[in-house]
Amino acid sequence: MVLEERVLGRTGIKVKRYGFGGIPIQRVSEKEAIEVVRRCHEVGINYYDTARGYTVSEERMGKALEGVRDEVYLATKSGRRKAKEVIEELETSLRNLRTDYIDVFQLHNLSSEKAWEEVKGPGGALEALHRELDRGRIRHLGVTSHDPGFAAEVVKEGVFETVMIPYNYLTLKPEEELLPLCKKLNVGTVIMKPFGGGAFSNANTALKFMLGKEFANVVIPGMAHVHEVDENLSVASGPTSLTAEELSLIEKDRVELGSEFCRACNYCQPCPQEIGISFLLRAETQSLRRMGWRPGTEERFADMIEKARTCIECGACEERCPYHLPIRKLVVEKADSLERLLEARKA
Ligand code: SF4
Ligand code: SF4
Repeated sequence: MVLEERVLGRTGIKVKRYGFGGIPIQRVSEKEAIEVVRRCHEVGINYYDTARGYTVSEERMGKALEGVRDEVYLATKSGRRKAKEVIEELETSLRNLRTDYIDVFQLHNLSSEKAWEEVKGPGGALEALHRELDRGRIRHLGVTSHDPGFAAEVVKEGVFETVMIPYNYLTLKPEEELLPLCKKLNVGTVIMKPFGGGAFSNANTALKFMLGKEFANVVIPGMAHVHEVDENLSVASGPTSLTAEELSLIEKDRVELGSEFCRACNYCQPCPQEIGISFLLRAETQSLRRMGWRPGTEERFADMIEKARTCIECGACEERCPYHLPIRKLVVEKADSLERLLEARKA
């Protein structure tokens, strides 16, 4: 099957538009992780994204792709903002990925003016990374952000060759300013969260929708199983026009999920009360819709409700949520709603 190719902005590298997101391979065994990455290579995927922050993901990707390093592009990222720290992380990434260069090294989740000032100030990560570009341990510099408005401001400064951003049929804000700007400035676009962090009812439709978007250079769905690689492959190698049925699925998700839906990124953690925020926020619209009532679901929901009731409304979670979700309000609403569901089942 033939995968469409695009040039990733001014990096000049030619990427298949169907890429690989490395978060989920943390959650399976090492053997399964290696199998899934090797399957990706077999089907022709050539862009692999991981991060220092994704625990064992880099290491597993490194093991899987060791013999084919020259055939793939490796992208990783660091959330460190200081020169010394970012170089320490780069060296760990190089070791983990079993390589002596990173194709696209990204500053991870740059979403505030304060962080950006730190990065580009004296002793900041940027000066060290420019030295690494000269040295060749990094081939291209990118940035990732969950805030398209802020990312647009950063992109205007001309430092980064790629930007990675969440973009999907319920998160269309990037196409207002950021993505047209990237096109104008020839900045490569890497699209994360095409499935809304697992919130959408049909992954095939969600991927097709994104591959039909002109502004998306490479879309990187996270995958942990070989069957997911193959299912996405059949979408990625087919037409991108949406059928009436697919359009109605999208509309249904728009109505059901609205804009206040949790993408399961867990940036809101840690919660001092140890509330499993993303599980609670997604329990009804995602877990229940997908899997229905199963043995243990009622007990699990009862535990979630009990935990939710301990929220002290400190607001720490809201400061960290990149989607600015009103978590304190949602915690109460979701717990109330789950409680009503449990009562209805007892009646
Ligand atoms: S507001 Fe509630 S849910 Fe959020 S961090 Fe504080 S205690 Fe946890
Ligand atoms: S509440 Fe926000 S930060 Fe927390 S998991 Fe959901 S989207 Fe991410």
